[in-house]
Amino acid sequence: MEKKYVYLFKEGNASMRNLIGGKGANLAEMTNLGIPVPQGFTVTTEACTKYYDDGKVVASSIIDEIENSMKYLEEITGKEFGSTTNPLLVSVRSGARVSMPGMMDTILNLGLNDEAVVALAEQTNNPRFAYDSYRRFIQMFSDVVMGVEKRLFEDEIDKAKEAKGVEVDTDLTADDLKELVKNFKEVYKKEKGEDFPQDPKKQLIESITAVFRSWDNPRAHVYRRLNDIPSEWGTAVNVQQMVFGNKGETSGTGVVFSRNPANGENEIYGEYLMNAQGEDVVAGIRTPLPIAQLEEQNPVIYKEFIDIVNTLEKHYRDMQDMEITIEEGKLYFLQTRNGKRTAQAALKIAVDLVEDGTLTKEEAILKVEPKQLDTLLHPAFYDEDLKRATPVAKGLPASPGAACGKIAFTAEEAKERAQNGENVVLVRLETSPEDIEGMIAAQGILTVRGGMTSHAAVVARGMGTCCVAGCGALKVNEEKKTLEVNGKVYNAEDYISIDGTSGNVYAEKIKTVTPEITGHFKTFMEWVDEIRKLKVRTNADTPRDAKQAVEFGAEGIGLCRTEHMFFAEDRILAVREMILAKTLEDRKKALDKILPMQRADFIAIYEALKGMPATIRLLDPPLHEFLPHTLEDMKNLAKELDVSVDDIKSEVDSKHEFNPMMGHRGCRLAVTYPEIAEMQTRAIIEAAIAVTVERGYEVVPEIMIPLIGDVKELKFVKDVVVKTAEEVMEEKGTKVDYKVGTMIEIPRAALTADSIAKEAEFFSFGTNDLTQMTFGFSRDDAAKFLNSYYDSKIYEQDPFAKLDQNGVGQLVEMAASKGRETRKDIKLGICGEHGGDPSSVEFCHNIGLDYVSCSPFRVPLARLAAAQAQVKNKR
Ligand code: ADP
Ligand code: MG
Ligand code: MG
Repeated sequence: MEKKYVYLFKEGNASMRNLIGGKGANLAEMTNLGIPVPQGFTVTTEACTKYYDDGKVVASSIIDEIENSMKYLEEITGKEFGSTTNPLLVSVRSGARVSMPGMMDTILNLGLNDEAVVALAEQTNNPRFAYDSYRRFIQMFSDVVMGVEKRLFEDEIDKAKEAKGVEVDTDLTADDLKELVKNFKEVYKKEKGEDFPQDPKKQLIESITAVFRSWDNPRAHVYRRLNDIPSEWGTAVNVQQMVFGNKGETSGTGVVFSRNPANGENEIYGEYLMNAQGEDVVAGIRTPLPIAQLEEQNPVIYKEFIDIVNTLEKHYRDMQDMEITIEEGKLYFLQTRNGKRTAQAALKIAVDLVEDGTLTKEEAILKVEPKQLDTLLHPAFYDEDLKRATPVAKGLPASPGAACGKIAFTAEEAKERAQNGENVVLVRLETSPEDIEGMIAAQGILTVRGGMTSHAAVVARGMGTCCVAGCGALKVNEEKKTLEVNGKVYNAEDYISIDGTSGNVYAEKIKTVTPEITGHFKTFMEWVDEIRKLKVRTNADTPRDAKQAVEFGAEGIGLCRTEHMFFAEDRILAVREMILAKTLEDRKKALDKILPMQRADFIAIYEALKGMPATIRLLDPPLHEFLPHTLEDMKNLAKELDVSVDDIKSEVDSKHEFNPMMGHRGCRLAVTYPEIAEMQTRAIIEAAIAVTVERGYEVVPEIMIPLIGDVKELKFVKDVVVKTAEEVMEEKGTKVDYKVGTMIEIPRAALTADSIAKEAEFFSFGTNDLTQMTFGFSRDDAAKFLNSYYDSKIYEQDPFAKLDQNGVGQLVEMAASKGRETRKDIKLGICGEHGGDPSSVEFCHNIGLDYVSCSPFRVPLARLAAAQAQVKNKR
């Protein structure tokens, strides 16, 4: 049988989301559940992929399937597509596997033309409705399919309203709209040099093609990269009979959640507008009403509505986000999906659903996105400062958290200023999908118009960015770049602070702080820890970071970089003295000055860890990094050390490397200057003895030798470490256990991991360097060309953020198994940035590593990702 590219709603179900997209699968599922859904069909994601494979054409066999399905729709509706007496109108809706709010396009009222609109007006006895529908269709089709700027049509509407002296669209009469249609068509003709297409079949195929095309638009690209969505998934297209919320005051449209998406409360939550269509609710053109009001307006419909909402939530066993339309008193469901929610809400809903027996703990932990937890650890306002501050305005608490920054009036500006290290809050009348990059870059988002389901609110909640929406008291002048509130004017240099939990807006700088893990969050994380097998450590170089990480649940330090200690103000001079020393004796003298400070560093770190393990890496960066770079600094150093500036200069020059990333660093330093490794080992062991004796913690230091490529290198440095450690223990008359291991970050080390494991008691995969060395490009330079790689779809992801499982991952997996062959109980961990990336954590779980290590703020995320990996793939 030939492959099928089109499915009627009644032929699909919820499990077919990969093929017919999330929207299509749920429309099919609702149809099967007997919920009132306008009928239609779905063109599959495979048809989209085929469209691209075929060189951006829709195959004629697919067009045939579409036409057959339209015939079916005509039969069940008793209407005719393209008829001039009883026209069938449809919507064309995008719908990928996962929802990508606002990223792709939808066209409503398709099938209208100059004749059909007359028929529709007569048939419904409602010319206002007919012409409103037609002008919307022209607008959407022109924008989405033909690329005519939306603004041109908005301008026409504004002109019409101005001419009539009215405020809102609904005040325009049938005649006004008829006139508007005429003007719209003129705009179209002027822009495209041809008449607005009158053939419904052509309208339909062009629209379907446009949805396929929208899969490839720039904002969809950005969204996909942010959310790890591969481009080969493609989007499905749903074609669905129109129902009309714009037929007058007994019609309307709404967006509803079965629970509160901001805080997770178990209450139906949503907004609606009467005499409106489609996106009117979210577009922020008119301010919608809370859904509870529908109960007063129409109790019968409200009851039917509540029953269906409950049915859907029970059926999907998760909070639902739904679209409804009421056409002359009849209720329809247009969409349902598992609702996007804030991290707070996600945790509350997960815990509630376990407590009421709907979900098991294992199922519940899959309901929270690891990346989302991030937002819970991010700033809240510092209480004392907040008490002193007075809000200047209040908007809707659209996405929780606190943000403070200078005002950015456009998305581009926000992006640019954020790149230059500035904290900005994006302030807009309302946001649109084109603003996505600026929204990502901003600390927070503040809009003047729009409700809780406006674009700004939905996208901000998805990203976990703080957002206050619909703050009508603000007057924003986007051109002049000013913000006026209560008669005072602010500009781009002024600070603004917004509280996405209360909706308060402050025209001042307010300090932000990190919150603790309590309440639902704590309960949830306890389940996470019960379930996961993979341990989570942290990358921390200071006691402060270590403490923070322990509060976030870290089980030790996976990477303590000692160079950061070398930069500390109280010792950088001694470090420089050590580097510039001409004799071994001088160098040792300088190292002796550093020793007590290093020892104190390690004691503080061990204390912060309360006996949990710490892997400490011996000095890694090339020495020139510690030397002064400007003439000014060189002069100062010369004075301090009582040598000539020329002396310093020539030393700096002689340490210069062309490719320091592959230069004199890592274990190579210890091979040339073993006395540095001696000093560090001494500090580590002395510190361990001190805390063991004085605090009673049983510390087992893990001394890690970086940048090994050959077992002999490791052996050489290890001998220095062991000899020193034994000496120290002899001197102190106390023994401590300690381990010596290495980083696997050079491909050769991965290749020879079996022999390296003879000397190494543990491996820690340094996947940052391993990625650089495997790809052959440096992390710092890659930023310059990776964007072109994304654009050309050579890479979809930054390999430094998400482990390249096919290449680098293969080296990791191979080294892990070679290591285990030689030494059965070898301890295996990862300490690159990837330790905090959910999909990379899953990979580490799957290949049986003992732990991942990541920055303190990512520890909760890694714990959750590890537990999810265990649920998906038990080990
Ligand atoms: P998005 O994915 O951006 O939400 P949708 O495809 O859901 O886009 O459609 C946008 C709006 O149009 C929604 O409010 C939806 O309910 C409405 N809509 C789509 N198809 C129909 C239809 N056949 N009848 C009435 N309203 C529709
Ligand atoms: Mg929708
Ligand atoms: Mg390294």
